[in-house]
Amino acid sequence: MSVMFTTTQKERLIELGASKGGDAVFEDAAARDAAFRDTEKHLVEAARAKVAGLLREKRMPDSAAVIRHLEDWLISEENFTKVTTPTIIPTEMLDRMTVTEDEPLREQIFYVGSKRCLRPMLAPNLYIMMRELGRIAKEPVRIFETGSCFRRESQGARHLNEFTMLNCVEYGVNYGEGSDGGAASAGVDSAGEGCAGEMHCASPVERLEGLARSAMGAVGIDHYSLEREESTVYGETIDIVVDGVELASCSYGPHPLDANWGVFAPWAGIGFGIERIAMVLGGHATIKRVGRSTSFIDGAPLNI
Ligand code: ATP
Ligand code: MG
Repeated sequence: MSVMFTTTQKERLIELGASKGGDAVFEDAAARDAAFRDTEKHLVEAARAKVAGLLREKRMPDSAAVIRHLEDWLISEENFTKVTTPTIIPTEMLDRMTVTEDEPLREQIFYVGSKRCLRPMLAPNLYIMMRELGRIAKEPVRIFETGSCFRRESQGARHLNEFTMLNCVEYGVNYGEGSDGGAASAGVDSAGEGCAGEMHCASPVERLEGLARSAMGAVGIDHYSLEREESTVYGETIDIVVDGVELASCSYGPHPLDANWGVFAPWAGIGFGIERIAMVLGGHATIKRVGRSTSFIDGAPLNI
């Protein structure tokens, strides 16, 4: 008679981060249980070593390191300025983003009372900040924010209800001839070279290709692709994708939405999903291991 791991055993091994072995076949229950105990012991030891390394040396989970690397790159190399805006926003802002009652994203909103909600994205506040700072500075403005966003997701392996977005946006730059967004620009289907400094970019798309390349360099990812997507809110977006996982979405204006925010100059921005990047860097099968949690830390389970 041959037997396999029980459901409980499989769940425990998955919790401990087993990557394979779930389909192993054993001669009898005694052999299976011995193999389970052995595998569990090794996985627990590995998880303990990981937690010890974090506490003694690493001191920061991958998700926090990704934030640090992206923020350092934006501030030191790209002249962006950090802003911090409220997590609770007026629901009316969603209408202005055209996330209206008939939009799927509207179903995912966490409401706070009748007129406010937890932000599902950073864009509404950043629209206001770039408009106001552009008005005051009278020159191109580069800003970014890092913060929690909230969406009621059906909890797949790549979605959290609370996740961290880092959104950078550059406003008021004249990207030269490419006011159509540079649809003819080369290299959008694969990771294009892009251009290094915004002043030399012929189009926002070229600029975004350059920013995407530097950002991936900053977090240590060298293989990615850029893929065009249709977004209900932003029209066309260009996604940064690794092994089929969307790490970030790039968008640009002039855009039909801009007028709702009193924004009339060109802009180009990227919204990075911090936990998605940490998930890919750590080779984790599910995003919850690297999300805000009291059950996992830096991909390691605490139930050990
Ligand atoms: P997806 O299609 O994967 O659901 P999206 O296109 O709706 O993502 P965006 O609005 O483009 O997401 O958000 C910018 C980035 O934030 C995404 O590229 C992704 O990395 C991350 N992100 C979006 N939703 C979630 C979520 N629920 N949990 C974790 N990260 C997310
Ligand atoms: Mg997207």
